[in-house]
Amino acid sequence: MSGSVREKKQTQKKLVFGRISVDKLNGNDRSGLSGELNKYEGVIINFLWLIMLVLIISDALICLLFGQATFKGNVFLVQGIILAFMVASILIRVLVIGKKQIKPGLSYIIIKLVDILLLVILVNIVNHGYMFYFAILLPIISICITRGFKTSVPYLGVAFVFHIAVYFIVHRFDNIFYLEYFTTQHAQYLFLIGILYLIFLVFLRIIGTYYNQFSQNEKDNQNLVDQLGNKYAQLEEARKEKQDQYDKLKEVNLQLEDSNKKLTSSIAEFFTLQQISQAISSIFDMNELLQFVNDIIIGVMGVSTSNIALYGSGSDRLKVQVSNIYNKKERAILTDNINTPYLKDAVDKGTTILNNTVNPDDFDFTRGRNIRSLLCVPFLVKGKSHGCVLIEHTIPEAFDEDNVRLLEIITQQISIAIDNARLYEQLQEFANTDGLTQIYNRVFFQNRLQHELEQAQQLGYEVSVILYDIDNFKRFNDTYGHLFGDIVLKTLAKLVKESIRKDDIVARFGGEEFIVLLPHTGKELAYEKAEELRKKISELTIRDQSIEASVTVSMGVSTFPTLAQTELTLINSADEALYVAKKSGKNCVRTANPA
Ligand code: GH3
Ligand code: MG
Ligand code: MG
Repeated sequence: MSGSVREKKQTQKKLVFGRISVDKLNGNDRSGLSGELNKYEGVIINFLWLIMLVLIISDALICLLFGQATFKGNVFLVQGIILAFMVASILIRVLVIGKKQIKPGLSYIIIKLVDILLLVILVNIVNHGYMFYFAILLPIISICITRGFKTSVPYLGVAFVFHIAVYFIVHRFDNIFYLEYFTTQHAQYLFLIGILYLIFLVFLRIIGTYYNQFSQNEKDNQNLVDQLGNKYAQLEEARKEKQDQYDKLKEVNLQLEDSNKKLTSSIAEFFTLQQISQAISSIFDMNELLQFVNDIIIGVMGVSTSNIALYGSGSDRLKVQVSNIYNKKERAILTDNINTPYLKDAVDKGTTILNNTVNPDDFDFTRGRNIRSLLCVPFLVKGKSHGCVLIEHTIPEAFDEDNVRLLEIITQQISIAIDNARLYEQLQEFANTDGLTQIYNRVFFQNRLQHELEQAQQLGYEVSVILYDIDNFKRFNDTYGHLFGDIVLKTLAKLVKESIRKDDIVARFGGEEFIVLLPHTGKELAYEKAEELRKKISELTIRDQSIEASVTVSMGVSTFPTLAQTELTLINSADEALYVAKKSGKNCVRTANPA
């Protein structure tokens, strides 16, 4: 059971000593005083027994030594018993309650009253007890200095009542206790005792004043401490508030810095994208555009290398189009290994690769190069991949999410341009291709011839043409049908296309008339080539279902500038030579006459 609960229960039992209630004996100040005064109280009550012992012994000695009064053994015994009670009371207090300050409450009241009663009895049963009446005051003083004057007064009252009662009881047993001070004049005695207690009261009042002052000081101090505590708490609160505000400000500042950074990089991004879109609308050459974009990427991303690779037209192999790697060996490592599955699989699938912990030995395209981070973003249009941008850095952890995002935006823009260029290329090819034979048409040939002759003129090389026409094709059509005739045209076109060099071209010139352009070729070589083609054609058997047939061609060869000096005369002279070939019995080659 906790102390406070016990205390409550004790005070609830309303003990009444005459007109003095327990509440009065407990006093108003229930807390008691800590510190100095409690020590005095301890000293006073713990040494009461010593005073009493001195009193008893000196009383006995006076009787024995000076013979002023008779020493009575039974009285001495009673005195001893009282003293024993007192010692027992102190022992109980020390051993059971401990050295702690006794809290106001029932036990406090009982202890004090027992002290007072024992003292009163003792001073009333010794011969010179009246000389020790002051001792009764000691426990009451101890109350006064710890609990205040008002609390001590009821105890003084109780002591007075005890005193009178004990006085009369002892007188009743005067046959045993007849003592020296005994008198028959009770009224006189009571008067004197009354005066004595009044003096005690005054004395207590004086001590009480000291207590009041002391407790006031203590209260003031406590108030001061409390106020200081409050002030400190307020200050602490204010400090915390300031700290909070500071923290918030710091946070806001950080956010602002972050926003500022983002804004700056957004502006940079915006500027970059604007530059790119401007480039897309003003640079029509795809390679030039890619070079420009590559330079922008290097500038804005601060990378060591940036490379753009595209799928070759009609091929599923990546080819490095632009790169800022100028070291031949390193560039070769990249270009030769750009189709490494690690890269190509991701580009094929249209997924981004971000690798900030590259070990150069892990990949063919990085082996022997100082690469520690790489970011590869594909060019994607409508789910179709056109290639990729591959940026690399010599330090690890070089790229973050922002880099990925920016490069993805850039590649998105470029992708559209690449897609448009590819579409344009396809369209161009479509416009230049003959629908039936899938070789170049006459328009393309004329343009190409013009371009080639200009170059040949400038650089001084020869260009030859072979114009050829299928022999008796009208009859062939009539015999095998127009559809089979078409198959012949297609087969012949394919054969010739596969039989010429990479830089030569073959085009459909008219219905069943074809022309081959041979740059860097003189008339002899052209003649040989024509003969070779003629022979190949004549040896070819064309099959379709049940039909099996072959055709021959007649060829006219002319050479610039040896035999003709203009585009028109070159074609005309070849045509004339073809005419001669027809006249000469067909299935033969004729060279044009010099103009
Ligand atoms: P020659 O040996 O003198 O050239 O006699 P030829 O019958 O071939 O005469 P010519 O060159 O004038 O004949 C042209 C014929 O080629 C007419 C037409 O039937 C045929 N021809 C032209 N274009 C096509 C085509 O696209 N498909 C088919 N099947 N036949 C075509
Ligand atoms: Mg013809
Ligand atoms: Mg013909």
